Amino acid sequence: TGILVIDSDSTVIKMNPAAEEILDVKMNDVLNRELDEALGARVPQLSSELKNALVEERSKYRHEILIHRRDNTGVPLGTSISILRDADGEKRGAISVFQDLTEVQEMRNQVRKADRLAAIGELSAGIAHELRNPLASISGSIEVLSNELELCGENKRLMNLIMRESGRLDTIISDFLDFAGLRSPRKRTVSIDNCLEEVMVLLRNNPAKVENIEIKVEQHASEVHVNVDDEQLRQVFLNLAVNSCEAMVDGGVLRIVTGQDTPGQLKISFYDDGPGIDEEYVGKLFEPFFTTKDTGTGLGLAIANRIITAHGGAIEFKNRERGGARFDIVLPVGREKVSICSKAEAVTAV
Ligand code: ADP
Repeated sequence: TGILVIDSDSTVIKMNPAAEEILDVKMNDVLNRELDEALGARVPQLSSELKNALVEERSKYRHEILIHRRDNTGVPLGTSISILRDADGEKRGAISVFQDLTEVQEMRNQVRKADRLAAIGELSAGIAHELRNPLASISGSIEVLSNELELCGENKRLMNLIMRESGRLDTIISDFLDFAGLRSPRKRTVSIDNCLEEVMVLLRNNPAKVENIEIKVEQHASEVHVNVDDEQLRQVFLNLAVNSCEAMVDGGVLRIVTGQDTPGQLKISFYDDGPGIDEEYVGKLFEPFFTTKDTGTGLGLAIANRIITAHGGAIEFKNRERGGARFDIVLPVGREKVSICSKAEAVTAV
């Protein structure tokens, strides 16, 4: 909380280090100077409100104003102004108390966004369900027709197009329902190494895996057992790995590194040699339906994010300095060492 006190002549007589920090000024440049002179240019609204309150002898209770730091970033402030009086009720000055509301405002925005997404999610899940049945009838009928009709030329091309595109619609709807109806994690204690190994098996058989991509797994946290829904976790690993493979059109290395830099946390990082992500898109990466691919659904990272968040973890993206993308998954690691499910058991759950 920042505090700024002026006397009845509007001279700044006191300020605390928090005020220095929030207002982006040096105490020595402000103390014992007339308020307007000292702060009028830096934080005009704050200084004029304080001065007016002093002149009008009227306190101003909690309200919000926006100030700007020297680098021009806006800082929302929650502020109150009170008139200071001596024992005889004589006016002695005024005090302004203020807080930086940046974090509070970010939190408010996040809650608003989450609410909006939840509402959109519910509505669209309903629509997706409704689309499924007619789509199934269309796909079924087309399949029957394509078996019965001997088409050639343009007609055959059109028939193939309908089949391909209805298949694509079906994938979008399935992915979306996966995302919208994401179940809560069914946790059990598994070895992270096994989980990754199983993903490697799936990846080697994935069409996105092109010939000139090398996948390296570096385990610096061997034998770490995590209490997770391993089916969901495999889905996250697979989504990230497939994205990296798809990004490396000219080949490269996908490096997956596990480590425990912080006690109680397991970090799994995915590094690739693709083009990375344009800064303007970075903020949208985890939003549902954000995609730059012709055949993408934009749900892979949104699903990954929801799964990791539901596990109490976090997933973050950075462009690598030398180019390429880096995704870090951080998971809390419990202390419990319950029986570890065997690899065979985990594979059957895929
Ligand atoms: P989709 O793969 O269906 O597009 P995702 O949610 O998995 O959906 O990814 C969203 C977008 O994020 C992609 O379309 C792509 O532009 C970008 N992206 C994700 N991973 C990477 C990566 N490793 N390298 C470059 N871009 C990526």
